[in-house]
Amino acid sequence: MARDPRFDPLFQPIRLGPKTARNRFYQVPHCSGMGYDRPNTLAAMRGMKAEGGWAVVCTEYCSIDPRSDDTPYPYATLWDEGDIKAHAKTTEAVHRHGSLAGVELWLGGDAVSNLNSRATPISLTGAPVMRVDPLQSRALDRADIRAIRRWHVEAARRAVTAGFDLIYVYACHHYLLHTFLSPITNQRTDEYGGGPANRVRLVKELLTEVKEAVGDKLAIATRWSADTGLETGATLDAEQLEMATLIDGLPDLWDVTVSDYAVEMGVSRFVKEGCLEAKVTAFRKAVTGPIVTVGRYTSPDSMLRLIKSGTADMIGAARPSIADPFLPKKIAEDRLDEIRECIGCNICYAHNSLNAPIRCTQNPTMGEEWRRSWHPEIIPPAGDRRRVLVVGAGPAGLEAARALGQRGFDVALAERARKLGGRINLESTLPGFAEWSRVRDWRESQLAKLPNVEIFRESEMTAESVLELGAAHVVIATGAPWRKDGFGRATPVPPIRATVTDLYAPEDIIRGASPDGTILIYDDERYVMASALALKLIAAGRRVIYATPAPIVSEWTSHTNEQPAIQSRLIKAGIRLIFGKVLADFDGGAVELACLYTGDGERIAVDALVPVTARRPERALYDALEVRRADWQAAGIRSVDLIGDAEAPGLIAHAVYSGHKLAREIERGDRDATVPRDRAA
Ligand code: ADP
Ligand code: SF4
Repeated sequence: MARDPRFDPLFQPIRLGPKTARNRFYQVPHCSGMGYDRPNTLAAMRGMKAEGGWAVVCTEYCSIDPRSDDTPYPYATLWDEGDIKAHAKTTEAVHRHGSLAGVELWLGGDAVSNLNSRATPISLTGAPVMRVDPLQSRALDRADIRAIRRWHVEAARRAVTAGFDLIYVYACHHYLLHTFLSPITNQRTDEYGGGPANRVRLVKELLTEVKEAVGDKLAIATRWSADTGLETGATLDAEQLEMATLIDGLPDLWDVTVSDYAVEMGVSRFVKEGCLEAKVTAFRKAVTGPIVTVGRYTSPDSMLRLIKSGTADMIGAARPSIADPFLPKKIAEDRLDEIRECIGCNICYAHNSLNAPIRCTQNPTMGEEWRRSWHPEIIPPAGDRRRVLVVGAGPAGLEAARALGQRGFDVALAERARKLGGRINLESTLPGFAEWSRVRDWRESQLAKLPNVEIFRESEMTAESVLELGAAHVVIATGAPWRKDGFGRATPVPPIRATVTDLYAPEDIIRGASPDGTILIYDDERYVMASALALKLIAAGRRVIYATPAPIVSEWTSHTNEQPAIQSRLIKAGIRLIFGKVLADFDGGAVELACLYTGDGERIAVDALVPVTARRPERALYDALEVRRADWQAAGIRSVDLIGDAEAPGLIAHAVYSGHKLAREIERGDRDATVPRDRAA
């Protein structure tokens, strides 16, 4: 279908120095968890974005010298000629679809510890490294500045050989070049320190020298913060703009962001679409060159507004391009209702932090393009139209039914409740979590288009009714309710007797239970649930205590980059926080907590307890069918599978992936066969 002409401005080509981007969709540099280690995985993933219509597709941060080594986090490298071959895989994959490939040259400064290269970290200040290793960086000298200039030019030449079309001088995110710009970190008294003209000198030299070396072949971009993010505010922000004006004309593209990464990369719980716009609007007035900016834009109308208002010239995206690599194509083909919108959960980012290839809650194929040959839009058709019964319409069952339907199976989706969505229906009602409902809504809307999928609501299935239905394949996606007995990571022997009163599961609180008095929320899940319940109860006027065996609130959310925001909200809400304590007992009137290190007990009088520790897989139906295995053949059943939380409770991303994987492999016997490893380039 032809696109709505309204969106034409998003598809105008734009000139970036010596190159032309075919439209306004730009995948900004984003971490992938793949780095220099997994060149095939990376190339297939980036190539998929180009196939989906992103006119520019960039690498992640790309180190240009062993003194910038972010181990244990995965990053790209252009250290020497040996790195070129790996990058060429990506540039070829991107060029195959008519897009431009960009590379973000990077020096980490005191953000890196060089754990792999064992080089001494160099920084402007010689401060302790930020990764919290017992090590300080060496304060750089004039010889280092000369080396930094040489490294950039050498890496730029390698980038040309690798086939890149665009190259970054990376001056934000508190890495080395950014520290030159900041009056706080830059205390030099020579021509590189002092006023704005001196502080921007190195970036100016790099842009000039890289441009001289490769500017006729590559577009030169800079990634730049529109503010300083410092308490001292307006004056320094004005200086940041002044420095931009001093180098305006040198970059062929300004990639504009803000200094607070928790805003730029904010979770939807705290940060909404377009959150950078006010700052970028101010920045627009300072420079003349084209601007790209992010803001987790998933709405074509918001994108159009951004371009038409002149605030930006290109729509930058990391997460929206991960959740839907085909977003531009869907706008181009007037398939707006097919856009799979990012939910802002940062599970992608978390896995980079965990040194694993990124994955996505919404897009189960992300990171699997090479090793499993999964395509986000195309799925192999079923050999025949066998009937498949999917029981349970949470994220696992919805995704399984959708993907099986797309494959052409004759699918029956049975759900006990009236509403489809399972856990999403509860979790997305927590304060701030509304965007999580996109997991349900996208799948429900796609299912509605599949005539071969029949949905049975308010249909609780039993072993008897499953056998009666006689489907060839049965998929059990019945979920996992929270346990109330306190069983968990730190408490393998459940500490709470089931008979005790004033004990609440997370679901009870989400559904509206709001016990009077003081409520203790015990968090050994360490993800978002306990903090969300605490804030919900506080908003309802309750007194709340948060206790955890961990040393911080919502420990795992350090990976999703939301931990500081959560902890600060709990502190500001006046919630008492208890760390390093394990749940030992609850008698209905008091909680007993034991010190994780000494075992010493502490009794706290409370009126209610909400343990957030673990969930119990709902596998009664699966087990009942297993007992009736002898009856399967007569009923026509060839396979019964358990997926999602009913198999192993986890993130929504786990459940969606589990449903998708099963749908692709349902007729295969060797489902757990090992997948290829991405060996050296
Ligand atoms: P997951 O995250 O694995 O998709 P959820 O808990 O979100 O799991 O969803 C499980 C769904 O299964 C819920 O909507 C629940 O109502 C449904 N369900 C559980 N048992 C049955 C059953 N016997 N018959 C039909 N639906 C069921
Ligand atoms: Fe968006 Fe979450 Fe997917 Fe990341 S994992 S792209 S935040 S939906």
